Amino acid sequence: MYKPVVDFIHNLYGTDELVPLHVPCFIGNEKKYLNECIDTTFVSSVGKFVDRFEEMLVDYTGSSKAVVCVNGTNALHMALLLVGVERDDEVISQALIFIATANAISYIGAHPVFIDVDRDTMGLSPEKLEKWLLASAEMKDGCCYNKKTGRRIKACVPMHTFGHPVKMTELVRICNQYHIELVEDAAESIGSFYKGQHTGTFGKIGVISFNGNKTITTGGGGILLFKDPELGVYAKHLTTQAKVPHRWEFIHDHIGYNYRMPNINAALGCAQMENIERYVENKRETAAVYKDFFAGLSIDFFTEPKDCISNYWLNAVLLSNKSERDQFLEYTNDNGVMTRPVWGLMNKLPMFENCETDDLVNTSWFEERIVNIPSSVRL
Ligand SMILES: *Cc1c(COP(=O)(O)O)cnc(C)c1O
Repeated sequence: MYKPVVDFIHNLYGTDELVPLHVPCFIGNEKKYLNECIDTTFVSSVGKFVDRFEEMLVDYTGSSKAVVCVNGTNALHMALLLVGVERDDEVISQALIFIATANAISYIGAHPVFIDVDRDTMGLSPEKLEKWLLASAEMKDGCCYNKKTGRRIKACVPMHTFGHPVKMTELVRICNQYHIELVEDAAESIGSFYKGQHTGTFGKIGVISFNGNKTITTGGGGILLFKDPELGVYAKHLTTQAKVPHRWEFIHDHIGYNYRMPNINAALGCAQMENIERYVENKRETAAVYKDFFAGLSIDFFTEPKDCISNYWLNAVLLSNKSERDQFLEYTNDNGVMTRPVWGLMNKLPMFENCETDDLVNTSWFEERIVNIPSSVRL
């Protein structure tokens, strides 16, 4: 029954072999810059590519400061520390999210609260968030507290699922009203814009990942985007062992982290960034082709929300129900096309099964229907 899908995708990617979900694309200066690192011996924590990569991200996203990290997960950890999340605080996020976000919250000893997503974005629902806060939160001395647990609600981490921007205007308004710090998990959304502004630049901090399966890669890597450049300077300090600059003395003024991206990874990132516009354009073309094709089969293809330009990092179809989803997964994976269901919901994992949630109606609806299909750049 799904043979046309398999044939179409093999044809789209011009191969009879396995079509993976998302693989990197190296068509520019990657080898040249990597060789430069080796020739100069600057492969590690010092080198010009780190600064250059950060500048390229500032230019491209319009943020006022960018600080690279070893990966997106520790960039999220750092972001939560920087906005002041402490042990026993609560941090609001989505149940439909990648494990990294919930893990980063847990590293601090804070507790995630999982709120439902919207049907038109697959990301955190402002309406559901507001509803939950109205029922569950109270303000004391300028801070927001959970009435039931007594814990402070310190931050909120929405995610731009598969590159589709969430409703940032509303989320910013709600978080401001409740004095909750907003950190955007923009791990998947480089090249995605909400009302003309790059994702990851609405909250106090935004995080992008450059893991091997993302739109561009540094091998492993992540970046923090800042509204406030001063906070960025402090982030750089904390991610480099909080070492106070001195010609020879080892002085450290905080508990620091070794979270800084090595030059060799940043070199790869610079070469990748030189082609970011081509990549995003190409991914959007692929999405348009998929959209037409699936319309002909009466399979629902997820398209970018209103007022948004999405990078279509991972394309998604929505099957009618769980059994059709499972048939689709089985047929495509049996026949050389890699497809995947959405991540298991956070509140069903043993580490997070006791976390507070709202009704998660849309989240559960998506869980039974989403299938991601091959989405690599085709150049
Ligand atoms: C990839 C990803 C991360 C983590 O990034 P890594 O670089 O793999 O550590 C975090 N959140 C989301 C939503 C992601 O997709």
